Amino acid sequence: MKINSFYLRLTAYFAALVLLCCLLLAFHFDRLATLALTEAAARNLFNTTRSAAMQITVNMQEREREVLLLSRSHLLKTADLRTSLVSNRLQDIQQSYPYYAWIGIAAPDGEVLNATGKLLVGENVAARPWFQAGLKGPYVGDVHKALLLEQLLRPNSTEPLRFIDFVAPLYDETGQVKAVLGTHVDWAWVAQLLSGILDGATEQQLEFFILDAKQQWLYPFSASNTAVPPLPDTGQTTSIRWPDQQHYLTSVVQIQTNQPALQWQLVLRQPVNTALTPVKLLHQQILWLALALIALGLLLSLVLARQFSLPIIKLARDARSISSAKLQDFQTESSLTEIRELANALHTMLQSLQHKQQQLTEANNTLEQQVAERTLELQHANQVLQQLSLTDPLTGVANRRRAEQQLQLAIAQFQRYQTPATVLLLDIDHFKRINDNFGHDIGDLVLKQLAQAWQAELRSSDLLARLGGEEFLVLATQTNLDDAVLLAEKLRVSTAALHIPQVGKVTVSIGVAPFTPDNLEHELFLKQADEALYRAKQTGRNQVRLALS
Ligand code: GH3
Ligand code: MG
Ligand code: MG
Repeated sequence: MKINSFYLRLTAYFAALVLLCCLLLAFHFDRLATLALTEAAARNLFNTTRSAAMQITVNMQEREREVLLLSRSHLLKTADLRTSLVSNRLQDIQQSYPYYAWIGIAAPDGEVLNATGKLLVGENVAARPWFQAGLKGPYVGDVHKALLLEQLLRPNSTEPLRFIDFVAPLYDETGQVKAVLGTHVDWAWVAQLLSGILDGATEQQLEFFILDAKQQWLYPFSASNTAVPPLPDTGQTTSIRWPDQQHYLTSVVQIQTNQPALQWQLVLRQPVNTALTPVKLLHQQILWLALALIALGLLLSLVLARQFSLPIIKLARDARSISSAKLQDFQTESSLTEIRELANALHTMLQSLQHKQQQLTEANNTLEQQVAERTLELQHANQVLQQLSLTDPLTGVANRRRAEQQLQLAIAQFQRYQTPATVLLLDIDHFKRINDNFGHDIGDLVLKQLAQAWQAELRSSDLLARLGGEEFLVLATQTNLDDAVLLAEKLRVSTAALHIPQVGKVTVSIGVAPFTPDNLEHELFLKQADEALYRAKQTGRNQVRLALS
């Protein structure tokens, strides 16, 4: 198939169009979907962070409320704080929540009056910040290392024990501070809470961090001494580079507490590659979809191009069939208006051509017939012309040219077959007088009448020719001299016997010479006959004389 065929070009144009449309659509949807998925990933990360922050807040508020309620309980208000009743109550509270590392009550001078597990009882905590803050009112202390309890509670731990303090003053009946209720909550509860949130989603590679007001990592412990990257503003989620040089989608949410001093920020990070895995999958799916669409589009292009070019191919095939006479006319039925009009136009053109060809054929036939007729006429005219060229116009007998031809023929026959032949030269006597006396026309008439009379006397094999003026020649073939003399005598006598109107009697002198082997050259016999004729004139005219041998 030719590269510049209508079919191929149409296919190429369709294919290019399909390719362009598919690529544009794929690109457009890919962009939209990428944007949507990226936003969704960021939103998910942010929501997880916010929900985790809320759980921390709620948990802290619970502890605060618990300590506050305990501090206001009737028992602690009224009872002696050193009694086992109080220590049992403290023990009960500790057991209700596994992260209470220590719950104790210290007198206003700092002496520990009672505590869970009797730890630190009798020690003085007056210098501790929580105690000093607790004298003034309810207090939540920032995370700190367990200075006194470390060895007592967890002597072999690799990770240092860290506490967050929930403290409230105890008032007596008069409203005076009678003691300070202090609790140390193991910071591990945060780890427990956060790992609980991420439980079962390890493949997402999510990691929580908590940053304190001093811009140091509170959680996880392993991060405590590492640098803090330039984090997005709280409430934001962006992709940033962390100190390990990896890019992470990072969300930051402020943890709300009742203590304005606790400016904790919860940070959640996820490697960008993992966060955008759905985007990668989407890229692949869109690519496959685009490829499938392109393949389908190409197939459709081929079918459509074939559909469009088929009527034209068919018209061309029809035209070829018509030119090789296999078909009579174009098929003008088509569902396409343009093709129908084209076929109709071709049909009309073909009709007109066929009509013209028919006219041309007819004209050609007529012309051939005319040419045949004209040729025939010409042949006839030529015959007539030839006849005329050999005929004397006045008398209708042969002229000098014809006489010459016949003489040559007779000479040849004499030489080849010794066929005898004799010539007679006839000259009308005193013809000048006839002209003079009766006029030239009468002279012509005499010439005609004599020629007719002599022709009638001769055999058909003899030739009578007018050589010029009133001089004639008779070529008598198959005739020897004797017979020729008899013939000459017969002619002379019949001439003299003839009565010509107005003119009367006319005579003729005749010289006779036979063909001999010697007188053929240069037509010598004619001279001999002429010489005999001359003698006939000399000896009185109306004579027949023979050539001298
Ligand atoms: P002779 O007996 O010696 O032959 O005498 P003649 O008068 O016949 O002699 P000449 O040959 O001198 O004359 C021939 C004449 O024939 C001369 C010419 O006027 C005439 N003549 C020649 N051709 C024609 C012709 O075609 N028509 C007519 N009417 N006369 C002719
Ligand atoms: Mg003469
Ligand atoms: Mg004469």
